[in-house]
Amino acid sequence: VKVEGMSTKLGFDDLRKQVILKGACMGCGACSVACPFPEVLNYLYGEPRLVGECKVCGICTRICPRYRVDYAEIEELIFGVHNTQKNAFGIHQSMSVARAVDEEIRLRGQDGGVATALLLSALESNLIDGAIVSTTNPSNPWLPVPSIARTRKEILLSAGTKYTYSPGILAIKDVHDKEVKHLAFVGTPCQILAIRRMQGAKLRKLTDPILFNIGLFCSECFTYEGLMVEKIHRGLSVDLSNVEKINIKGRMLVDLKDGKRLEIPIKELKAYAKPQCNYCNDFSAELADVSLGGVGLNGWTLSIVRTDRGKQLFEAALSMHALEVRPVNDFKQALDLLIRISISKRNKALNINSL
Ligand SMILES: Cc1cc2nc3c(=O)[nH]c(=O)nc-3n(C[C@H](O)[C@H](O)[C@H](O)COP(=O)(O)OP(=O)(O)OC[C@H]3O[C@@H](n4cnc5c(N)ncnc54)[C@H](O)[C@@H]3O)c2cc1C
Ligand code: SF4
Ligand code: SF4
Ligand code: SF4
Repeated sequence: VKVEGMSTKLGFDDLRKQVILKGACMGCGACSVACPFPEVLNYLYGEPRLVGECKVCGICTRICPRYRVDYAEIEELIFGVHNTQKNAFGIHQSMSVARAVDEEIRLRGQDGGVATALLLSALESNLIDGAIVSTTNPSNPWLPVPSIARTRKEILLSAGTKYTYSPGILAIKDVHDKEVKHLAFVGTPCQILAIRRMQGAKLRKLTDPILFNIGLFCSECFTYEGLMVEKIHRGLSVDLSNVEKINIKGRMLVDLKDGKRLEIPIKELKAYAKPQCNYCNDFSAELADVSLGGVGLNGWTLSIVRTDRGKQLFEAALSMHALEVRPVNDFKQALDLLIRISISKRNKALNINSL
């Protein structure tokens, strides 16, 4: 396998030493998906595992979101310009505060249901025939499961945030089997970065079907064992199948199916955050086509359109009257929060190369 731009031979051992052993691997699975050799690099128990002989082709090091990332190069690839980190929340064309017009979407959605409305409009207008989303399985309530949703029902079922890591990139492996040709990918900023790096490495078979990258704002994410099992199930004596919705608005709000609401102060959540997120400098999914977040809003989603593809996706939803949109200046607090968290995340991020 010839990889463009590879001059020195790098292998999984470099990734292991520079990322995994330093405790920075998110378990996104991109390396195992991208490894071109069968039975060499698998994904087991939330992280990559070498199961065969590494051929030292270097691909995994070129696409890992933690290994020597050149942001300027990626911005050049996506936006045609690089003004790395001059703007607090990345290069963008426009922004607004929006919510789904469809009440069913608003009810199931995390904030304004914009991600779901964008996916459904794209599906109905044949821009996509599937979307990589995060669902859950009733046998393991609230455990996020990456999947390819191909129908309105499947997309609706995936709405709402699971605050534990969902390695959506793994689902890219199933795209060909499921005969999905045009996809939207919904994921966290670190996952969007991995996909952009795959595009940069010209892994076209994997990335060409992904037409739209929808990024979710992300301060940090939590471990399932810690947040869901230890804190919510054991600590608060909640049967996880009785949890209707979880949101963070100043504190974590756990809404139960019987109408009760439990609250967890943010400082109590820290113990369950993934330590790997300490290496992350991107709050607002700066490399996505469209970025979405709740930033303290109630029932609305702050929506940032960054690329022409993002504009196409957003305009398709607008032309189908699927979104109600208001100017971002009407929500100054949310905008201030976006700027404040974005800057703070950049400043606080640990530098993997200094370890
Ligand atoms: C781990 C995590 C942390 C977040 N932290 C913040 C934050 O600090 N501040 C903020 O403003 N916003 C945060 N968000 C984003 C926010 O929770 C909403 O996802 C966003 O506002 C979009 O809302 P919506 O109603 O438009 O989306 P919806 O219409 O409800 O759609 C949500 C989409 O996200 C997908 N999804 C759900 N969980 C995951 C997951 N774990 N990984 C990947 N995809 C998933 C669903 O499959 C669905 O497609 C976070 C999201 C995640 C996943
Ligand atoms: S064969 Fe290539 S992609 Fe696979 S583990 Fe080795 S260096 Fe990484
Ligand atoms: S690509 Fe993802 S799973 Fe692989 S080493 Fe990097 S962060 Fe970990
Ligand atoms: S904080 Fe960063 S590394 Fe952690 S899940 Fe969110 S985007 Fe990924």
